[in-house]
Amino acid sequence: MDTTGIVFRIQKFALHDGPGIRTTIFLKGCPLRCVWCHNPEGQEPGEQVMQPLSGSSAGPQRVGRRFRVEALLNQIEKDRLFYDESGGGVTFSGGEPLRQDVFLDAMLRTCRRRELHTVVDTSGHAPLSVMEKVAPLADLFLYDLKLMDDEAHRRFTGVSNRAVLENLLLLNRLGRPFRIRIPMVPGITDGESNLRRIADFLEPLDAQHGVDLLPYHRIGEGKYRRLRMQLPVEMPANRQGIDMEAAAAMFASRGFRVHIGG
Ligand code: SF4
Repeated sequence: MDTTGIVFRIQKFALHDGPGIRTTIFLKGCPLRCVWCHNPEGQEPGEQVMQPLSGSSAGPQRVGRRFRVEALLNQIEKDRLFYDESGGGVTFSGGEPLRQDVFLDAMLRTCRRRELHTVVDTSGHAPLSVMEKVAPLADLFLYDLKLMDDEAHRRFTGVSNRAVLENLLLLNRLGRPFRIRIPMVPGITDGESNLRRIADFLEPLDAQHGVDLLPYHRIGEGKYRRLRMQLPVEMPANRQGIDMEAAAAMFASRGFRVHIGG
């Protein structure tokens, strides 16, 4: 039987999901429930319907479409010229792409055969055996680190950070390339002590890897309503006030190649 996966968005000409011009494939399903999540349609693994907001003339919208490997590859291949010119390729994001590990594995193998550069954009929350399988197949990992305190990680994402940290150590041991991404969520992840603990954890790892600080924007509220999902009560306000420059300076002073934005 053909391997299939469920995709909820295909973003062409993406510029912030890895090097060059890329096509980003958003795979459905995520075991986390981050209170700041702006892709709630990526959380549930199955197909869903987004209802129109009251007063809108738009109809219901299906979220999630099942693809065979070949069919998705055909979509990706359409922009090969741009990848070749820019040093780009394809990024698998989500949701959590490792949640559909059989499909991801098949896609990565096929991309490699066709000499397409691949990035996996992950929360890192997956069984060690899944990471072990996927690690050699992707050319680069964009790896989220959110909270070093396990209690806080459980409270704000719904899961422990143990697998996240273990999988990152595994990637490092295997010598696989990764960039760390920190969502700078006001009052949750942006605290000085959390950022210092992240730097402490990363310091002994391979220093060539960079750190991206991702600004927070409170977006996606309408999607929660359209999916009949409850808005997380702890979703932070869209306030300014995070000193991104100071955070970047701290990482730079510890020897990381740091970048603000994706
Ligand atoms: S890991 Fe990403 S997709 Fe999953 S809940 Fe958190 S923000 Fe949303």
